[in-house]
Amino acid sequence: MSLVERDLKVIWHPYTQMQTALPPVPIVRGEGACLYDENGKRYIDAVSSWWVNIHGHAHPYIAQKVSEQLKKLEHVIFAGFTHEGAVELAERLLKILPANQQKAFYSDDGSTAVEVAVKMCLQYWHNKGEKRTKMLAFKNAYHGDTFGAMAVSGRSAFTAAFDSLLFEVEFIDLPDESNIQSLKSQISNLKSNLACFIFEPLVQGSGGMLMYEAKYLDELMAHCRKEGILMIADEVFTGFGRTGKPFACDHVTEQPDIMCFSKGLTGGTMALGLTTCTQHIYDAFLSDDRMKTLFHGHSFTANPVACSAALASLDLFLDNSTAENIKRIETAHRNFALKIKDHPQIKTTRQTGTILAMEWETGVSTSYFSSLRDTLYQYFLAAGIILRPLGNIIYILPPYCITNEELAYIYSKIEQALEEI
Ligand SMILES: *Cc1c(COP(=O)(O)O)cnc(C)c1O
Repeated sequence: MSLVERDLKVIWHPYTQMQTALPPVPIVRGEGACLYDENGKRYIDAVSSWWVNIHGHAHPYIAQKVSEQLKKLEHVIFAGFTHEGAVELAERLLKILPANQQKAFYSDDGSTAVEVAVKMCLQYWHNKGEKRTKMLAFKNAYHGDTFGAMAVSGRSAFTAAFDSLLFEVEFIDLPDESNIQSLKSQISNLKSNLACFIFEPLVQGSGGMLMYEAKYLDELMAHCRKEGILMIADEVFTGFGRTGKPFACDHVTEQPDIMCFSKGLTGGTMALGLTTCTQHIYDAFLSDDRMKTLFHGHSFTANPVACSAALASLDLFLDNSTAENIKRIETAHRNFALKIKDHPQIKTTRQTGTILAMEWETGVSTSYFSSLRDTLYQYFLAAGIILRPLGNIIYILPPYCITNEELAYIYSKIEQALEEI
């Protein structure tokens, strides 16, 4: 039996309608920005394997560090015990995050990093004896698939089966010049019951690579600060260079109270979640009263192997060549966007840093809409490119090591698709 036949017998894939999905592509190895299937066919990973990969696949330096760690210590309980990797990673990350970030809490992935952040905010107010239980979030937000993370995400097809069970959240529009004043007064009206404001800074990934300007986020954050509302910056997707700066929050002057990381944290090697917070948040949990403890932890909290992958990825991230690669991709994207923006099939293009999104013209019918997504996905797959459209939105966010030739090939196939589809 082939790998795909065996897969179809036993596997249930994520975000996949198993009845109608085409068989999965069996990947056997990766190198640089590329993946290779059983028959040796090459695929350029233009979506960084669901946005996690930043330095390329099977990076030899990360592999070496992980392998060394595996032979030393694979795991240890993180309550009552500690280890070098977890401490060093926290020390080094806190040094490059906004200056108010002082403490690091580890978890498993992006969703759990968000769960921890939300629980920190809710219990912060609980510990202070104030009744603040409502959350504030943006429409079309995406913060993960576990229940708390899903609750602070926009209501959509993803959440429909659970809507009645999700806790109460106020959703506001993304800020722009026309609505910033009314958003501020909306927030002021809600403030007495608001536990926190959670947001994806500058780019809403799953929502369709929706982008908004740093200066309006800065204004909203300053307003929340003034009104005493805690802020969670979910940098699970935007962290580690995606927006052109190390973190999306580097584009604003205000600093969030809490930040969430995962995806690029280990260079996309393995799962690890991280929630950082200010001294002020941390202090609200210090007490002789045991009930003020943050009762949260996962079996694999701060797994030493995952921490070693993150440390190796950080070494590579801080190397000058990575910053140069990010600039190179930004420029290439900008030039390509200029070239295609007036094509009749292109509704809009938008770019933040290394993320380029293009909205395809769909006409009106929604059934055509969904078939267009599948058509485009298959078209690029056949051409040896992994582009996974969100509806009619195609986006490119490659590993930073992608070569100019690989980028040029992706662009040329998009231009070809604009003519042929
Ligand atoms: C992907 C994502 C998450 C969830 O991370 P997982 O590791 O998939 O659980 C949370 N927030 C944002 C902004 C994301 O893009």
